[in-house]
Amino acid sequence: MERDNLVPPCFLMKEAYNEMILHSIHASPYEACGLLSGRGMNCETAWKMRNVETSEHSFAMDLDEMDKTFSSIKETGHNFNGIYHSHPSASPIPSAEDIQYAVYPQAFYFIVSLKEPKPEVACYLIDNGNVTEVEIIIL
Ligand SMILES: [Zn+2]
Repeated sequence: MERDNLVPPCFLMKEAYNEMILHSIHASPYEACGLLSGRGMNCETAWKMRNVETSEHSFAMDLDEMDKTFSSIKETGHNFNGIYHSHPSASPIPSAEDIQYAVYPQAFYFIVSLKEPKPEVACYLIDNGNVTEVEIIIL
């Protein structure tokens, strides 16, 4: 995996960070998933989504629910700028599937890992199979 220090960091609001972790804990042992929005590329709000696969190793969002959430995001004056999901028992590293199904090169991909007692969150840009880890700055 590349770690390019020229990539700007991702700014994540504390509330959204906490919400992603809580959602992941509640959904465990299944994977949780959701969207993130904010002004510019700042990730300010977490939008919980249903994992229609109810799986411990994968996630998929309902397309209608996604459309509705994209509309709600627009109404708040935010941009859609991130996607999160959890790894209930694995490290916060994108799986082959995560990379294959990442279709938003501009979005931050957050993975919440519950593998260790203290949840760990990592962030990536995934562009056409290329994965770049991004530093998270919590505000
Ligand atoms: Zn994953």
